[in-house]
Amino acid sequence: MRLVLLGAPGSGKGTQGGVLAAHFGVPHVSSGELLRDHVATDTELGRQVRAYLERGDLVPDELVLDVVGDAIVAASQYGGYVLDGFPRTLAQAQRAFDRAARAGETADAVIYLDVPDDVARARLGLREEADRTDDADESAVERRLEVFHAETLPLLSFYGERGVLVPIDAVQPQAAVTAAILESLEALDTR
Ligand code: ADP
Repeated sequence: MRLVLLGAPGSGKGTQGGVLAAHFGVPHVSSGELLRDHVATDTELGRQVRAYLERGDLVPDELVLDVVGDAIVAASQYGGYVLDGFPRTLAQAQRAFDRAARAGETADAVIYLDVPDDVARARLGLREEADRTDDADESAVERRLEVFHAETLPLLSFYGERGVLVPIDAVQPQAAVTAAILESLEALDTR
């Protein structure tokens, strides 16, 4: 199973990503987590990306593609992946799609976790103690929401045109969101 999770910060990508990866027995690849690990261990890449993460800006494509590309290749040995946080711009989506298409390995479904901005803000506010400086900083939260609208929302039509988009109402409780995703995936399967 190859899944991509799209959604605003606070939409539940990380939570659902973990649950879905366990359900399908494939690795959960979170671009944000990979980048935060580099920052935490103070690698060369970590030093290059730290300021972007703190501001809530996107990290330049080249840096993200490197780290996520390696993780996807590694994950493919396990029969797929749940990708969370990547792609996030049309340029990233196009590059990832071209590369995957050459290998005959494009995503089976792209799940859009749909939440209004005020719900996203409220959830990020609750997450503050979880040690993410970009959740604790109001201007970084606003910047991430702004970037999501400007850069990531256009991916809905990109994947919609390719027939793989699965929109999900993500304002429901966590288990209900998971159930809705699994139900939609079954429906896709029997099309
Ligand atoms: P959220 O969706 O809650 O903002 P993520 O963990 O997905 O959390 O991302 C955190 C930060 O990591 C982003 O604000 C951005 O700086 C960086 N990042 C993650 N994925 C990407 C990506 N695909 N392209 C560019 N930057 C990214």
